[in-house]
Amino acid sequence: MALDNRRLAELAAHDAFIQRHNGPGADDVAAMLASLDMDSMDTLIDRTVPADIRLGRELDLDPPRTEAEALDYLMRIARQNRVFRSYIGQGYHDTHLPPVIQRNVLENPGWYTAYTPYQPEIAQGRLEGLLNFQQMVMDLTGMELANASLLDEATAAAEAMALCKRANKKSKSDTFFVADDVLPQTLDVVRTRAAWFGFELLVAPADELADADVFGALLQYPGQSGQVRNLGPLLESARQQGIMTCVAADIMSLVLLKEPGSLGADIVVGNSQRFGVPMGYGGPHAAFFATTDKLKRSIPGRIIGVSQDSRGTTALRMAMQTREQHIRREKATSNICTAQALLANIAGFYAVYHGAEGLRTIAHRIHRLTTILATGLTEKGVRLAHDSWFDTLRLTGVDAGKIHGRSMAHEINLRYFDNGDVGLSIDETTTAHDLDVLFDVLLGDEHGQSVSVLDEKVVAKATSGIPAACRRESTFLEHPTFHRYRSETEMLRYLKRLENKDLSLVHAMIPLGSCTMKLNATSEMIPITWPEFARMHPFAPRDQVAGYRQMIDELAAFLVELTGYDHVSMQPNSGAQGEYAGLVAIRRYQAAVGEGHRDICLIPSSAHGTNPASAAMAHMKVVVVECDADGNIDAEDLRRKAEQHSDSLSAIMLTYPSTHGVFEAGVREACDIVHAHGGQVYIDGANMNAQVGLTRPGDFGGDVSHLNLHKTFCIPHGGGGPGMGPIGVRAHLAPYVSNHVVTPIEGVEPGCGAVSAAAYGSASILPISWAYIKMMGATGLRRATELAILNANYIAKRLEEYYPVLYKGDNGTVAHECIIDIRPLKVSSGISEEDIAKRLMDYGFHAPTMSFPVPGTLMIEPTESESRYEIDRFCDAMIGIRDEITRVENGDWPANDNPLVHAPHTMADLMDADWTRPYSRELGAFPSEAVKAAKQWPAVNRVDNVLGDRQLICSCPSIDEYRD
Ligand SMILES: *Cc1c(COP(=O)(O)O)cnc(C)c1O
Repeated sequence: MALDNRRLAELAAHDAFIQRHNGPGADDVAAMLASLDMDSMDTLIDRTVPADIRLGRELDLDPPRTEAEALDYLMRIARQNRVFRSYIGQGYHDTHLPPVIQRNVLENPGWYTAYTPYQPEIAQGRLEGLLNFQQMVMDLTGMELANASLLDEATAAAEAMALCKRANKKSKSDTFFVADDVLPQTLDVVRTRAAWFGFELLVAPADELADADVFGALLQYPGQSGQVRNLGPLLESARQQGIMTCVAADIMSLVLLKEPGSLGADIVVGNSQRFGVPMGYGGPHAAFFATTDKLKRSIPGRIIGVSQDSRGTTALRMAMQTREQHIRREKATSNICTAQALLANIAGFYAVYHGAEGLRTIAHRIHRLTTILATGLTEKGVRLAHDSWFDTLRLTGVDAGKIHGRSMAHEINLRYFDNGDVGLSIDETTTAHDLDVLFDVLLGDEHGQSVSVLDEKVVAKATSGIPAACRRESTFLEHPTFHRYRSETEMLRYLKRLENKDLSLVHAMIPLGSCTMKLNATSEMIPITWPEFARMHPFAPRDQVAGYRQMIDELAAFLVELTGYDHVSMQPNSGAQGEYAGLVAIRRYQAAVGEGHRDICLIPSSAHGTNPASAAMAHMKVVVVECDADGNIDAEDLRRKAEQHSDSLSAIMLTYPSTHGVFEAGVREACDIVHAHGGQVYIDGANMNAQVGLTRPGDFGGDVSHLNLHKTFCIPHGGGGPGMGPIGVRAHLAPYVSNHVVTPIEGVEPGCGAVSAAAYGSASILPISWAYIKMMGATGLRRATELAILNANYIAKRLEEYYPVLYKGDNGTVAHECIIDIRPLKVSSGISEEDIAKRLMDYGFHAPTMSFPVPGTLMIEPTESESRYEIDRFCDAMIGIRDEITRVENGDWPANDNPLVHAPHTMADLMDADWTRPYSRELGAFPSEAVKAAKQWPAVNRVDNVLGDRQLICSCPSIDEYRD
């Protein structure tokens, strides 16, 4: 029986991913449109998106693929990558991700779909995971404090430089010292950052630090070519000269080496990748950042701290949340927002699973294999550049060409230095057999060397590459958490227990405005652990990464089409990094055309805090443009300020649709005004989910935008990272985006320094966005945008009777999110936006974005992935809460004793022997039918923020507390 074309198309439609990604079906859409008095989706969109910026055509993309087709195609691309055994080292090492962690964390939506733990009562699981990470970093580095991750080692080093400058009040110098054995990619990123902060760099052998007039210094431990030296005397003399010091350390080596904290370092940074996180062609992995206690109030990024809940129970939270860019804005020296929470959790769990003994075994084994290799090579007359090592050797006076030829035949990658030296690093996955192969490769065929013979000799001689003065003497990972979970059964249950404390997308919608918590489809996630993507070293030779190159090129081409820009740079690791990279590209371009003096950046008052912080980091002066009563940019104020600063106007940073959730009609005009005064237009692409397929920033006036791939393009938020923030640029800016010292990027000026440690940022999560676009196609992507807008308008409509909707466009619609105003209710009832946020937990929901961009409001973004059923459930909860507020207003419940101020309710509340509250236990914990059917319990009662900040504790509770 022949299938006709129509039937075939129907069958294909059944497989279509579009209907899996999008929540509302056809009937829902009709009903939701009817509730808005709209006769069609086109009418809604016509009334919402200004006509003068509409794309007016379908995006030019291939037809949508099914999940099976897309995975099949991507597998063929992935297989073009050739996974060689990597000994390149240089900050990235192969590792064994324990399968129990791989399956239950990395591949588990209960972990990867969570958001940054802003609501601690429903985030105690990942907060504990991150606290473990901090404790692990503190123990291994010997420092008093550690944050919960940064983007990569190179940016962490750049942050350390900024912190040194800020904290070192004694030094008048503007010069920062970088030891010449620092990793090249770190130097590249530090150089970029220094240039725009206005710092000089002094790159010299570490010993010259003693005579340098500098405010701070960066040293590598062990040095990039493997040398292990006692940094103690250098750090001590620096301290005496008033120089602040940062040590970039290899985390595995710290298991055996003396911890930098005990040697006198002020800051220790590094990459935790080799603690179980795949190399992934450069990322994502979590960098760590540890400091002395003195620096605790200026440490960049997020710190998890210990506090108490309203019952006095120990509870974790993000410390000093308000200290972020949103408060410091243009005075911030760091713009870090999204970091690497998921990867920090994985590295922390690796340490929990192995414990100190396990890590010692792993590190000793790595060191021993390296020692065997070093001994065997020297016996055969090979000269080593250093007589000390942990896991890295540098061979000098060898025939690099011949070694290279043999290594290729064995599918091995080594490191080749410019001077002809050959380097290699041993890792956790290296075996004795690998060492035999390495002898063959390094010595040629007739060497007669073998590990088994040598091994005995080495044991006999008990040689070590670690000088006596550098051996670690202190213990580490002594907290019970690092002892208890050694069997897989125990570990599995620990991971599950933590997961169960957290609310993620597996439970309910997370309506966080500006964060776009949409579906992270399983099919999109599957490729990231394929070895062809996961096991690639970022500095693998070009001809081994053809698959990555094709995937990245295709994704870049998609994004060019979606944004209307001419070129995409795939380097920035987050939205904020993209902002920085984009502004720096603007400044480089302006310098190249003789306009380098332009340094004013106009930023609307409603902007996200990363905008002014990024501008400050690009050495720009921020001038704030006011918004009018409707939340739109005040066109008059913009004109006036552009005029006033015409000669020095560098750029404007706009968010579109605005952070108020509105498609401003005047955006084209705003861009024109800035262009007329010689400025460039940066459009913050965080709200791209309202634009895809309908309008393009590159068409209506943008010169550059970042795209948060972890918002619009389905990379999961991971509980606070990873992310990717590639930037789209118009052609004139393309030569000025970030280059990379190890992996030069075609078409970019050689002098343009890097912003990330790896050339393509966190490349291994790019397949997620690639797959999303591939499976949605042009119609699917446009449909997603339309539905995101429909869902937001539907919510605004359902809630406006109960809560005022703050901003709307000219025709009374909102974009993909809406802001409801809680301030009037606070006046009438005393109930705050925070009480509502906590009460939502009792109803089984995560709160919307609180008090951004307007204090005292909630910003709701449903995304297209939420069904009408779920959205109604959320609206019902909000309406239920409004009824409760009415009862407070009416005096039925006292303002200080009602289910809102006591929210969230925990099992401990229900067990209370004397319940004296004016409402029932049932109303407290089970306010809706939905939660009776499936209850997600907040793990703790409301967490005390003030206490947590006053007595800042960022380590695991002491062992004594466990004894109590
Ligand atoms: C999320 C967001 C950013 C920052 O992006 P990160 O990836 O978290 O660094 C910047 N601007 C706006 C409007 C955002 O919503």
